[in-house]
Amino acid sequence: MGGEEGNGGGMTKRMWWGSGAARVAPVVVLLMGAGAVRAAEQTCVFCEIAAGKGAAEASVVYRDERVVAFMDRAPRNPGHVLVVPREHADDALTVPPATLGHLVQVAQRIARAIGRTDLKAEGFNLISNNGKAAGQTVFHLHLHVVPRFAGESATAAAGEPRPVRPAEELAAIAAKIRAALAP
Ligand code: 5GP
Ligand code: ZN
Repeated sequence: MGGEEGNGGGMTKRMWWGSGAARVAPVVVLLMGAGAVRAAEQTCVFCEIAAGKGAAEASVVYRDERVVAFMDRAPRNPGHVLVVPREHADDALTVPPATLGHLVQVAQRIARAIGRTDLKAEGFNLISNNGKAAGQTVFHLHLHVVPRFAGESATAAAGEPRPVRPAEELAAIAAKIRAALAP
């Protein structure tokens, strides 16, 4: 059938590209050298925040030896937190499974803490976009904890461009969440 022929052709093309990329990748890594790889890691915005660099430090709500959580600078709603591994991983496929588990546990604690603040969230999204096709724009794994309110559009919390909020506003909300997390 015509359809099967079409699929077969597509598969051959994908396999050809796949094997080509596999041959080229080690050469690219060799050409980049260790220094260039380190430089590439240093330009990751979430690695910088995890390392305590930059203005986002004021909006950190939680930190331990494996993860850090901080305010999304362009929140979907007030209280929108990102939880990230401190060690760089592009996405949920490449992060060590134990770290992914810890990330989810910390996200749960943060969602509970947000519920104890005066933000008055009535629900929350716990989501992670993996890959460009899924809406990932920062290629350092992160879980979004997004407070939600009755009457809002029920669509997913990512996607549409949102304004970056003033640092003082983010820091003030972070302080509330930090206080609610305290034992
Ligand atoms: P993604 O679309 O990859 O799932 O989500 C990336 C999120 O990171 C977006 O919600 C965006 O607002 C947030 N973001 C991007 N750059 C920064 C930054 O430099 N600082 C902070 N705090 N959030 C950022
Ligand atoms: Zn990173």
